[in-house]
Amino acid sequence: MPAKGADRDVDADVIIVGGGVIGTAIAWRAARSGLTVTLVDSAGDGPGAGDHRTANQASRVAAGMLGPVSESVFGEEQLLNLNLHAVDRFPSFNRELEQATGKSTGLRTEGTLAVAYDNGDLAALDRLTDFRHSIGLAAERLDARQTRRLEPFLAPSTRGGVLAQGDLSVDNRRYLAALQAAAAAAGVQTVAGTVLMVGARQVEAAVPGPDGPVRITLPARNVVVAAGHATRDIAGVPLAVSGAIRPVKGQILRLRHPGGLPNLLTRTVRAMVQGRDLYFVPREDGELVVGATQEERDDRWVTAGAVHDLLRDAEIAVPAVSELVFAEASAGLRPGTSDNGPVLGRADGDGLIVAAGHYRNGILLSAVTADAVNALLHGREPHPAWHPFTPGRF
Ligand SMILES: Cc1cc2nc3c(=O)[nH]c(=O)nc-3n(C[C@H](O)[C@H](O)[C@H](O)COP(=O)(O)OP(=O)(O)OC[C@H]3O[C@@H](n4cnc5c(N)ncnc54)[C@H](O)[C@@H]3O)c2cc1C
Repeated sequence: MPAKGADRDVDADVIIVGGGVIGTAIAWRAARSGLTVTLVDSAGDGPGAGDHRTANQASRVAAGMLGPVSESVFGEEQLLNLNLHAVDRFPSFNRELEQATGKSTGLRTEGTLAVAYDNGDLAALDRLTDFRHSIGLAAERLDARQTRRLEPFLAPSTRGGVLAQGDLSVDNRRYLAALQAAAAAAGVQTVAGTVLMVGARQVEAAVPGPDGPVRITLPARNVVVAAGHATRDIAGVPLAVSGAIRPVKGQILRLRHPGGLPNLLTRTVRAMVQGRDLYFVPREDGELVVGATQEERDDRWVTAGAVHDLLRDAEIAVPAVSELVFAEASAGLRPGTSDNGPVLGRADGDGLIVAAGHYRNGILLSAVTADAVNALLHGREPHPAWHPFTPGRF
């Protein structure tokens, strides 16, 4: 059945709401498995387009760390289990993506080095390392000399570090662009529009028409809501789920070597500077991502204070950053939830699936989210690591 109210043929097996890494990864895998897929995104014609609510998708703003070990904290063992499943899966998913598109996503495998700059920070790092060892994670303690031998541009005041070899990183913008290209090549149809309401077998969306927005109904056998933090604004998402999702603002910087020379750092560095967390994610092309703030706000302003604080701490940790070119400051909204875990599963026992709330780990979790939703679409159970994260838990 064609869409009502507009001259479009969008009758699909699946409609996916949201074209960030989560929705696009799901769309690619679903189309590759033989389903007809329509993806509706309010950002319209690709990354960077749209109004201020959509121009800064979290997926573009992110740093691209795939760091289950260095992200693990006390009390989140089920999430750690899911994140470890995700980092195991990511390289093969990424390889297939690179082969499908001929595009490199900049995956890096040098691990994460966590660094402390005073005794208090070193003690905090030690406690986290003890916890990580107690649950069987590999994290190697290094003294100050060993730490600086790995990363000579770290400040001489470095007190010591911990190397997590299992962590990866990816250039999230190149990764998203590759997902978009792969989805298009696999036959995913894209509709520029804002979904207002979802049901088990249809969505209602406002799409641009010649005389202003037109409201259309798109039918499908399954609807997947993957709209990041904005999932909570869509009518028809169960109230328990929308009530659990909250935006968590993050401000982040992109610096660049002026002469296109190699990066200052060779691996992700997480620094603790006077109790404050900071990270550096180097790219092969000389970009150095420095982040990020964590604020319970839902605006996307880049503030002078945040830029100042990030640069001040960055310079304490890696003094040579002051020589780099300031390329970009941006802000995005992480899709947080009340228990910090993602939400994945059927929301109504019928055709409506939610895949949202990926909070600080959406890039990392994108491949296993696509696998899990694809399993549901084909009547199979997702991997057991997903079981604690169903919509029904709220
Ligand atoms: C500063 C910062 C750093 C981060 N660093 C990392 C990191 O290092 N590693 C990591 O794994 N994760 C990181 N994250 C988290 C990660 O970015 C998110 O978890 C992930 O991008 C969520 O992806 P998403 O597709 O669900 O949401 P988004 O990327 O926000 O995409 C949602 C999409 O839905 C669309 N949409 C919204 N509402 C509607 C609607 N009503 N109709 C149609 N379309 C709609 C939007 O246009 C958008 O394209 C970071 C986030 C931030 C902000």
